[in-house]
Amino acid sequence: MIKTRFAPSPTGHLHIGGARTAIFNWLFSRKNKGEFYLRIEDTDKERSSEEMVQSIVDGLKWLGVDWDGDLYFQSQHIDEHVKACYDLLNRGHAYFCYCSEEELEMKRKEAEEKKIPYKYDRKCLYLTEAEKLKFEKEGRAKVIRFKVPDGETIFNDVVHGEIKFKNSEIDDFIILRSDGTPVYNMAVVVDDHNMGITHVIRGDDHISNTPKQILIYQALGWDIPVFAHVPLILGPDKKRLSKRHGATAVIEYRERGFLPEAMFNFLCLLGWSPGDNREIMSVEEIIEAFDISRIQKKSAIFDQAKLEWMNSEYIRRKDNFELLKLLKPFIQKYGYEVESEDYLLKVISLMKSRVKVLEDFVTFGRYFFEDPLQYDEEGLKKYWKENTAEILESFIERLENLEDYNAIEIEKRLRALAMEKNIKTAELIHPIRLAITGMKVSPGLFEVMEVLGKNTVMRRIKKFVEKFKN
Ligand code: GLU
Repeated sequence: MIKTRFAPSPTGHLHIGGARTAIFNWLFSRKNKGEFYLRIEDTDKERSSEEMVQSIVDGLKWLGVDWDGDLYFQSQHIDEHVKACYDLLNRGHAYFCYCSEEELEMKRKEAEEKKIPYKYDRKCLYLTEAEKLKFEKEGRAKVIRFKVPDGETIFNDVVHGEIKFKNSEIDDFIILRSDGTPVYNMAVVVDDHNMGITHVIRGDDHISNTPKQILIYQALGWDIPVFAHVPLILGPDKKRLSKRHGATAVIEYRERGFLPEAMFNFLCLLGWSPGDNREIMSVEEIIEAFDISRIQKKSAIFDQAKLEWMNSEYIRRKDNFELLKLLKPFIQKYGYEVESEDYLLKVISLMKSRVKVLEDFVTFGRYFFEDPLQYDEEGLKKYWKENTAEILESFIERLENLEDYNAIEIEKRLRALAMEKNIKTAELIHPIRLAITGMKVSPGLFEVMEVLGKNTVMRRIKKFVEKFKN
């Protein structure tokens, strides 16, 4: 059975790259009716926090990425990691090293001066029993180093094809620190083995760790999983995606009103494609189409505009009642009361084809929730004419007497008034829009007026005329 895992360190929020790695693992296991685990790599106690574990969990749940079994905390398995270090030692694949930091630092400097790459000189591999005993008696601090064998380490990466490392280029790396804690490469191998992981799908940045991990698998006589290293995500400037490019944490997108379905769909297409032109795809369609060998070799570029487009498509396709539920917290966040759901549903149908994120309902549609506090400067210059006050006043009169207050009737009255005054309808439409929305653009004016209601519209036009009359 195929088993994959996502293994974040809880030292920060779930970020775009991590989420994409998790999704690829999840898709691969779901596609193959396998299992997917979430392993929290929390051995760095100083930098890890409960809060970040929760944030990662929340982020994945929000995206609809679920996992099998309980959370696996790496820190609860340190004994197993340590035991494996001693197994390696007992089988002659590792050795104690008593060299002090100062000694090693000196050797590192020497290599630097000679301009040769530094590598541990294996001094402690060749210690006599008597020397070892002496160091032990002195109570010297010691680490365990892995004894890298001769030869080459080759693996067939699903994404990159054959990757080859000369073992002579790999240092006899430490597997157990002097404080008794195992290093990352050791913990990962032991956990992946114990969890029965068959496929390791992770970021490209781990490629250089892979030969070390393979050597550990081999030394312990364990099956080696299949590796797929997913290319980095870059910003539009082709530099590694970072805060400089804007939001990188998944929760920041949630807070702005991206829909999880859109985010999920978008992340799937960062470095993977179904091989045809489909872009908007349901989770089921993506699982069906997912093929790990179609993960691209070259880095993916994070295209914010595409994400926004995709989100707007998902908003457009979403049921209004569902949108209502999602929208309420945004409205409250901006300090507006949700007085009537009916009213909100009308706002939703007017606005849903015009927004990119849920937040836009409130930022572009502020006038649905409060009278305009200011008016678009350019709009004022353009649309406020000498006769504007007078024609708006006439329009208010017509509205006052309008029994059947709805978009069609409003439009009829407005056209009739324009005819009477011998002006273009635009000379009414533009200043009215400015008066009731404060903006130059909005959804269809008559519909907006209907939704806002007669009292609000009249109050706003009066206030507008008053303000600019003189
Ligand atoms: N904890 C590692 C990281 O966050 C993941 C290691 C792995 O996937 O093997 O980069």
